[in-house]
Formats: sequence, C-alpha cells, structure tokens
Amino acid sequence: SSEEDEGEEYLFKVVIIGDSAVGKSNLLSRYARNEFNPHSKSTIGVEFQTQSMEIDGKEVKAQIWDTAGQERFRAVTSAYYRGAVGALIVYDISRRTSFDSVARWLEELKTHCDTTMARMLVGNKCDLENIRDVSVEEGKNLAEVEGLFFIETSALDSTNVKKAFEIVIREIYNNVS
Ligand code: GDP
Ligand code: MG
Repeated sequence: SSEEDEGEEYLFKVVIIGDSAVGKSNLLSRYARNEFNPHSKSTIGVEFQTQSMEIDGKEVKAQIWDTAGQERFRAVTSAYYRGAVGALIVYDISRRTSFDSVARWLEELKTHCDTTMARMLVGNKCDLENIRDVSVEEGKNLAEVEGLFFIETSALDSTNVKKAFEIVIREIYNNVS
C-alpha cells in the first residue's frame, strides 16, 4: 500500500577517500551544493552531507562523508569507515603519485569495510587534460582488475560529478533491494 511505501526509508553511508588535494572536498561540495572552492583549506575533523535522490519512486538518502583533511596525517580513523556501504576512491589525473596511492586506499577499505560495498574509482580534475599524468586506459585497467566502477570527473567544470555519486548510490540500492 501507499502507507507502507511511505514508511520505507533508505539511508546509505558513502565515504570519499584518496590522497590529500585530489579534490575530495570539492567533489562533495559540487554534488551537494553545486559549489567549487579554488582555495579550499581543509579543517580537521569529520564532516558529512546528506543528499537525496529518487530511485524506483523511492527517496534514497546518501550520507556522504568527507575526510576533512585527516588523510594528510595518515589518520583516517575506523569511525570514518564504520557502516559505509559505498566508497569513492579519488585520484588526480594530473598527479601520478595520487594514482599510485589508490592501492593503499583499497587496502585500507578492505581492512575496514565489507568487500561487497559499492566502489567507484574516480579520476578527478579531467579538465586538466593539458597536464594529464595518468591515462584513461590506466584508470580503466586498474578498475577492471580491482572490480571497481570507473569514471573521470571534474569538480571544477562539473563533468560527471553527479553521475559518479549516483552510480554508487544506485548500486548500493540494487545490492539491498
Ligand atoms: P581534498 O584535499 O582531496 O579534499 O581536495 P580539495 O577539494 O581541497 O581540492 C584541492 C585543490 O584542487 C583545490 O585547490 C581545488 O580547488 C582543486 N581542485 C579540486 N577539484 C578540481 C578539479 O576538478 N579540477 C581542478 N583543476 N582543480 C580542482
Ligand atoms: Mg578535503
């Protein structure tokens, strides 16, 4: 009945991880508030934003967590990962070291989260094509080997930002429904 439908609630925790300065905070602010900050200075602590989308006529909420700078100190705590059912693992396509770090971030995910979680490899800053340091193929290959979704985004010009989050949220929904 419609009463039962109204009673259904979906709230999924999604975490964003990756090296410092790859654009995690800006991906979230672009998705949640359509904002971009060219001089973002991260404060210490954990923050999240809740975003809703409609799937199969149902309201699905994602509580999306941002490290808020903890990753600089290699101190992303287990509380950050607790209960997460989705993850965006972000690197910067213009900085190879951030791509090399993806393996370490995946290890960290395996330590803290269920392997069935929805995971998306995100090559951010695709607007910086002229100084690209990691090819699309390399991103795709790594994602295929690790069993991740893959997308390139730009928090600066908005390319694929909404899509990146929505693919993850849809996959989580599919896993539970
Ligand atoms: P975080 O440390 O991973 O949270 O990264 P931030 O979101 O703080 O971004 C780090 C820097 O990269 C900031 O100067 C941003 O303005 C810049 N930045 C973030 N996303 C993009 C992007 O898609 N393109 C470009 N060109 N710069 C970006
Ligand atoms: Mg940040």
